[in-house]
Amino acid sequence: MSGSNSAFETLAVRVGVARSQFQEHGEAMYLTSSFVFDDAAQAAQRFSGEDEGMVYSRYTNPTVQMLETRLAALEGAECCVATASGMSAILGVVMSLMQAGEHVVASRSLFGATVQLFNGVLKRFGIETTFVEPTRPEQWLSAVRPNTRLLFVETPSNPLTELVDIAELSAIARQSGALLVVDNCFCTPALQRPLEHGADIIVHSATKYLDGQGRVLGGAVLGRKEVIQAPMTSFLRSAGPTLSPFNAWVILKGLETLKLRMQAHSKSALDVARWLEQHPRVTRVYYPGLASHPQHDLAKRQQSTGGGIVSFEVDGGRDEAWKVIDATQMISITANLGDAKSTITHPASTTHGRLSPEVRESAGITEGLVRISVGLEAAEDITADLELGLSSI
Ligand SMILES: *Cc1c(COP(=O)(O)O)cnc(C)c1O
Repeated sequence: MSGSNSAFETLAVRVGVARSQFQEHGEAMYLTSSFVFDDAAQAAQRFSGEDEGMVYSRYTNPTVQMLETRLAALEGAECCVATASGMSAILGVVMSLMQAGEHVVASRSLFGATVQLFNGVLKRFGIETTFVEPTRPEQWLSAVRPNTRLLFVETPSNPLTELVDIAELSAIARQSGALLVVDNCFCTPALQRPLEHGADIIVHSATKYLDGQGRVLGGAVLGRKEVIQAPMTSFLRSAGPTLSPFNAWVILKGLETLKLRMQAHSKSALDVARWLEQHPRVTRVYYPGLASHPQHDLAKRQQSTGGGIVSFEVDGGRDEAWKVIDATQMISITANLGDAKSTITHPASTTHGRLSPEVRESAGITEGLVRISVGLEAAEDITADLELGLSSI
């Protein structure tokens, strides 16, 4: 195992390897639901937590722990608890740190299912959420109440790539006695490390770039040990949205190439964004790496590159956006992102389709908006495919 002073690339390959007695070189996949004890006394000690060894894969598994150790090192976090999906990571933060009657202030520019979770499911259990304009600090401040436990944000946001100044928001969280949670899905620790800017908790959908090849679902919660470890482990132990060791292994191996992939995604995304910006059928391009992005300076301070997600507005509405999508031949029509394969989607009728038209409109998700997750194909093949789409309208 490499020391925590090592570079990101080294940690991504070396940290967290726990070898068995066979001294395997590749990380082992422990597909087992339970673990055997030497005797009844050891079983009792494992169950009570006096002995920290493995018990049952709902809350302890060596492959899952290898992933947790490695991802914690990459985010610079004391502690990481992996979960079955990104959504169960977000649910876990709320279930393990909040009570009925408490309050969340959240960005109104969040992943669609996250809005549904706060606005629908959690509301029924007595947790209220106020949604604010993410880039307006005064709205966060005035929404905070004495019972506010969490501020919740994605930066850059999906699909409009709006940025939030994490350091500024963390000052508001501290002043309010709340914890700042950042969904770091779009950047991953290869491009942005929110804890260094003052965030308290990071959530991940490992389904996206951490796996990076569209194979499995997974999630994670990271932060200080005293905030995360006992509450999240207890949540997994009693509620069960656990990451499978198979999925953990896939994501663990994905981390080894994370930085290389994020650099390649970012480089192609910038090429594609620049190409779109000069296209006559495109009225607006959203990408933090473009000088025309309203928060380009913040992007340069807070992230190392612009990331792989580019959104743009076609000249027209839903009909034109759908035409562009349907006329592409290579890019996959799917709502997933963070895959080696480029994907294209119409947020207003898919990922954000369950939101009311008013909520969608206020979030800036227009009918002409198209989102691409720029994959690892050559940028010129991606733009050639987009040209097929754009020249069809
Ligand atoms: C996909 C996604 C999630 C949810 O993750 P799952 O692994 O699909 O449950 C949460 N936040 C963001 C920003 C996402 O893109």
